[in-house]
Amino acid sequence: MGRLQKILIPFLGLVLAFWFYSARENFKPEMLKGKRVIVTGASTGIGEQMAYHLARMGSHILITARTEAKLQKVVERCLELGAASARYVSGTMEDMAFAEHVVKEAETLLGGLDMLILNHVGTSYFGYFNGDVGHVRKLLEINFLSYVAMTTSALPMLKESEGSIVVVSSMAGKVGFPFTVPYSATKFALDGFFSSLRQEFSIQSINVSITLCILGFIDTESALRAAADLLLVPPAPREECALEILKGGALRRRELYYRYGSTRLPLLLRDWAAELLDYLVRSRYRLERLKGK
Ligand code: NDP
Repeated sequence: MGRLQKILIPFLGLVLAFWFYSARENFKPEMLKGKRVIVTGASTGIGEQMAYHLARMGSHILITARTEAKLQKVVERCLELGAASARYVSGTMEDMAFAEHVVKEAETLLGGLDMLILNHVGTSYFGYFNGDVGHVRKLLEINFLSYVAMTTSALPMLKESEGSIVVVSSMAGKVGFPFTVPYSATKFALDGFFSSLRQEFSIQSINVSITLCILGFIDTESALRAAADLLLVPPAPREECALEILKGGALRRRELYYRYGSTRLPLLLRDWAAELLDYLVRSRYRLERLKGK
């Protein structure tokens, strides 16, 4: 036993040190300077903050969402902050032709693409599953199929630039969350599609990185409106969250957890103590306040 410990402990130490230092390659804002980036769902929330960070770093930015007036304001602010260029395309991601059109615009306006950030999310309800299959289908189109359509259209450009795909997902896409059943389903679908695609890229030596972002509760207006009074956990700041996503993409990480402590650590329980994790997830809600939602 003593001998085993003598070997095992230094070995574990070495593995941990290797993991820590290899995962901690430093991010530098210059990594995104001059890069051509699409950010979807950038009229508000985390997407808007990503656009501002990219602008400060001097990227070429193409943003999209439905609300043209908001996109115009975000573009103006991006130009003030120092973006190499900033443009928008407005439309709905329910329409796959629009999703493909956004990518074509990047080709026409930017002459290529280095990073595709898939971040938009359709509106859903917060409450018990109401059996509305049509809503699940619509949400799958917005939150999942349009991500697939954009990735497919963008792949030739991303292969040429050896670029990156950044997929914004959620804790609710890694473990079952109550009260967001349709939303969780769409986020699990993203994990399945993009993790499988990453495997194929690896087999085919395609040098396009895929970063899946697993976010906890973030203080965007829509999230606060839906869940602030029900959740016992405090929301994390969207500006910091946006920057961490960009760092994860630029460093070509496989997965990005934000905030790490409240997302990655609980998920370590998933394979070994799934029921404990389910219990911990349920205990984050003030169930008595669910009425009326
Ligand atoms: P917001 O609700 O603040 O923003 C959503 C964006 O998507 C907006 O720009 C919105 O603009 C756009 N959008 C909505 N519907 C459509 C549509 N049909 N077609 C095209 N664009 C659309 O979201 P957050 O910033 O809170 O979330 C961003 C990402 O982070 C999402 O993928 C979300 O799942 C994920 N996430 C967020 C968490 C949080 O607590 N905030 C937690 C975990 C994950 P418009 O209405 O103008 O179209």
